[in-house]
Amino acid sequence: MHSKLADVGLTIFSQMSQLAQQRGALNLSQGFPDFPAPLALKEALAARVAGDDNQYPPMTGVPELREQVAALISRRYGIEVCQEEEITITPGATQAIFCAIQALVHPGDEVIVFDPAYDSYEPAVRLAGGVTRHVQLGDDFTPDWDAFAAAINDRTRLVIINSPHNPSGALLTAADLDRLAALTESRGIHILSDEVYEHLVFDGQRHQSVLTHSQLYPRALVVSSFGKSFHVTGWKTGYLVASPRLSAEVRKVHQYVSFCAPTPLQLALADFMQQHPEHVDGLAAFYQAKRDRLCAALAGSRFSLVPAAGTYFQLVDYRAIRDDLDDVAMARWLTEEKGIASIPLSVFYERPPADRYWLRLCFAKTDETLNRAGELLCTI
Ligand code: PMP
Ligand code: GLN
Repeated sequence: MHSKLADVGLTIFSQMSQLAQQRGALNLSQGFPDFPAPLALKEALAARVAGDDNQYPPMTGVPELREQVAALISRRYGIEVCQEEEITITPGATQAIFCAIQALVHPGDEVIVFDPAYDSYEPAVRLAGGVTRHVQLGDDFTPDWDAFAAAINDRTRLVIINSPHNPSGALLTAADLDRLAALTESRGIHILSDEVYEHLVFDGQRHQSVLTHSQLYPRALVVSSFGKSFHVTGWKTGYLVASPRLSAEVRKVHQYVSFCAPTPLQLALADFMQQHPEHVDGLAAFYQAKRDRLCAALAGSRFSLVPAAGTYFQLVDYRAIRDDLDDVAMARWLTEEKGIASIPLSVFYERPPADRYWLRLCFAKTDETLNRAGELLCTI
């Protein structure tokens, strides 16, 4: 058959999680918590299902949840967005990203992404008939704005940024956003800002949200995920925030891709957010402690690392252990022979840099899992 995504297979996340399961390995590959969701959130869901909140919600999301998202944005970033016209609840951030790309990208349009880039961007661009231009992040995963400027041309329609960054954990600075704004303003290039790890920022740093950037926001679509912020990745609920004009365009696609996100999940999240506003404020410290536990455990190993600035991922360099294996082979070897699953970094690149020996470990895990991972990794 004439495939639209001929070179696309099962994602690395599915592959590695499957391999981990088959081998009974500790799974630090795909990003998800191995600890329970908050009890009050689970109880809220049970109550909403029992209370018969089980039919279609409004296409844009239940008002209760949009109100909570607007309140969260106001509290965290000091800005007011209109819950009617600027917030759309989606079944996962992935769906929001897909809809944003389909809404904006016409055949032949170019979309700039920064490599290493999250895996869902490029297939969505291709399905819209667009072309992805890859700009390499530097060795410390910061953007090279001169290389970015050189990649812009008359066909550039959209730029996708992701901070805190999966897979590196790096953060964009306020100066980065200013540079991006200056370089894209005159051409009216749109910005898709993937901020799903917005609350997972460590060491006292602040997340620089595009929501707060007055030059970028009118041209931007900002995506976040309840899955990350409330320890429920399997709930697949997220949201998109954009100006009324851009939100209207994305909603045209969203209403035909899924129409809505599940009602009881939305209402349970709204109930929990209203009752426990402190949950989100505690996320940075909660995950920083997990990052520190993993990094401390690895201090006695032959892996080297720079502690992640954000996200729940830690990169580790295995050069001192097996520089005869590329990272895909190393990730497989570690899972099959050593009982610990990770994600190789090269899969996030169009052209992986040579001489890189990086693996990504997810530390959204119980202390017990992290201790066990540390012990295992120290034996290698
Ligand atoms: N963007 C990035 C960078 C991610 O890591 C994830 C997590 N899977 C997503 C988007 C998608 O989030 P969701 O599970 O809400 O679709
Ligand atoms: N975002 C998750 C990760 O980076 C994976 C989500 C998925 O499996 N699609 O590990």
